[in-house]
Amino acid sequence: MIGGATQLVAIVGSPIAQVKSPVNFNTWFQDNGLDLSMIPIELSADALAAFIECLRGWQNMRGCVITVPYKQVVSKYLDHLSPRATLLRSVNVIRREADGTLLGDNVDGEGFLTAARQQGFEPQGQKALVLGAGGVGSAIACSLCEAGLSELVLTDLDSGRAKALADVLHNAFPAVRIGLAYHSLAGFALVANASPVGMLDTDELPLPAAMLETLTSGCLVADVVTTPAVTPFLQRAQALGALIQTGPQMARAQMGNLGAFMGVTALGI
Ligand code: NAD
Repeated sequence: MIGGATQLVAIVGSPIAQVKSPVNFNTWFQDNGLDLSMIPIELSADALAAFIECLRGWQNMRGCVITVPYKQVVSKYLDHLSPRATLLRSVNVIRREADGTLLGDNVDGEGFLTAARQQGFEPQGQKALVLGAGGVGSAIACSLCEAGLSELVLTDLDSGRAKALADVLHNAFPAVRIGLAYHSLAGFALVANASPVGMLDTDELPLPAAMLETLTSGCLVADVVTTPAVTPFLQRAQALGALIQTGPQMARAQMGNLGAFMGVTALGI
């Protein structure tokens, strides 16, 4: 129950009715006896600047999760950005400090890594393949580099997008070897689909089916797609004996990273 003293967080986007965060956060707040609540805010684009300005004086609002279509546009209204939000030019969470200052970060990649670490994957010194260099693929690639990966291969149907991301990451993380092509999956400790391929029960795969036969034993095969939870890509990898990580596992793990940034949950919940 929301009372007069309840502290708020929000998720802001358009459309918003489909998001699962309010139920997940509110269940967690209730189970942990916290007087906190997450509200969904369906915001039109022309109200974004005024909303962010209002947030500065909204004293019982601790922070906001930012979702489609505002992740790339919201940063210009904030006071400070984390280094990775600056690098990615994308914000998916805002913290409101007590004095009304607004700080933005992007924890999409951290959520992915939290889930991967829960499966035993540790990026330090490893080689990873990320298929898809859009919003989520960029965030995952950046977090892998931050965590000390030794080699990263990036692909995208839009080769210019993959190249642009590789250039940005190369400048920020010169110690990581970054490539744009692969001929086998041998040697990769992580293969991640960060494209929408496999959504809505199509049989499409983000790489040629025969390539999966070259997976190294012990490789973690991950997907960001949330519906279906186990995509055709993951099904095939699992049938070949690979360890898999689903999109819902990433989304669930990310809750801890989002909540910790806003100061309302613990990391790794
Ligand atoms: P986006 O449009 O920014 O990027 C997708 C990229 O994939 C594009 O650059 C596109 O060219 C590329 N692509 C498409 N087909 C490809 C293929 N066969 N091989 C390589 N690249 C290919 O989208 P986004 O915001 O990055 O979202 C991607 C997916 O991630 C969506 O399905 C979204 O629902 C999902 N998502 C999951 C979570 C989670 O927590 N699990 C969080 C956010 C988004």
